[in-house]
Amino acid sequence: MKNVIVLGGGGFIGGHLAKKMKDLGNHVRIADIKKNEFFKKEDICHEFILCDLTDAKLVELVITENCDEVYQLAADMGGAGYINTGQNDADVMHNSAIINLNVAHQCVLKKVKKVFYSSSACIYPEHNQLDPDNPNCIESTAYPANPDSEYGWEKLFSERMFLAFKRNHNLDVRIARFHNIFGPQGTWMGGKEKVPAAMLRKVAQTENNGTFEVWGDGLQTRSFLYISECIEAIIRLMESEFSGPVNIGSEEKISINDLAKMAIAISGKNISIYNIYGQEFFNKYGFNCPTGVRGRNSDNTLYLEKLGWSVSSPLIDGMSNTYQWIKSQVETFEK
Ligand code: NAD
Repeated sequence: MKNVIVLGGGGFIGGHLAKKMKDLGNHVRIADIKKNEFFKKEDICHEFILCDLTDAKLVELVITENCDEVYQLAADMGGAGYINTGQNDADVMHNSAIINLNVAHQCVLKKVKKVFYSSSACIYPEHNQLDPDNPNCIESTAYPANPDSEYGWEKLFSERMFLAFKRNHNLDVRIARFHNIFGPQGTWMGGKEKVPAAMLRKVAQTENNGTFEVWGDGLQTRSFLYISECIEAIIRLMESEFSGPVNIGSEEKISINDLAKMAIAISGKNISIYNIYGQEFFNKYGFNCPTGVRGRNSDNTLYLEKLGWSVSSPLIDGMSNTYQWIKSQVETFEK
């Protein structure tokens, strides 16, 4: 049995990871500024510390000496509507950077055996993601750096900071760059939800023969990884000797319009999509359409080479499972 701390366990990936760690028989402590909305505390941890990890004194209390592994997933983040509008840039950079600085420092002081840091595909340079059909997100292309969001710049800074702590203080780190993780028990409304959840919610809320909005021209491409595969990939990386940074994502690239069509097909409804962008979008929402880069896809060559394993679950399976969960959330919410 290991002593495990999951920072950000009140959130989506952290909640699933904490549950898996507990199911595997480990002692799990979570720290987060909010409770997990979708999991019962006793299902995912033994201790839940409700606290703000930007406060160095609280991080000092959370990370204790007998800890085997810290999983650092706490970040001020959300979907494109949160990180790509520019409206939350100062908070995103300040809050997440301070959390990461506090965590790295305490992990060294408390002699934590291993630390996992969750970086993002958003660190990749914009110039390699202009062609929706041929995005390049191979790990070695991160430099010269040019992320398209401040969120990406903060992640890149924190990757480097954790690697500096490894170099200078022997901190045993593992760094993954997640590419759009989705699934049940994730944020599905309120502005911080990501594309798959937003699509599936819109589909669940739209009447038969209705229409729903897709932000942008819908020709931008992405890939989406189902949560259970992400958790398995994290655990395998932690158990390996490889520090990364390494991509954890799916290589099944899809356009946003095709993702919308997939969501509609899963629902069995007859729904059309309406692409909203440019001046029309600005007039309606008061900010520019936050679609991010034109193309992005995971490249799993390095993960496969170093760990001898690769994700394999098709997107349609994860989308179908997630639709059932979001539909039930929408029904409960609308009662
Ligand atoms: P999430 O928002 O559900 O979880 C992040 C958690 O951090 C939240 O529960 C939030 O309350 C907590 N948090 C934020 N500020 C805090 C603070 N000051 N003190 C304590 N807790 C605080 O997001 P997620 O999707 O579970 O993502 C987990 C990690 O993975 C994040 O670091 C995120 O940047 C990274 N990531 C996620 C994706 C994805 O597709 N989900 C993609 C790339 C990277």
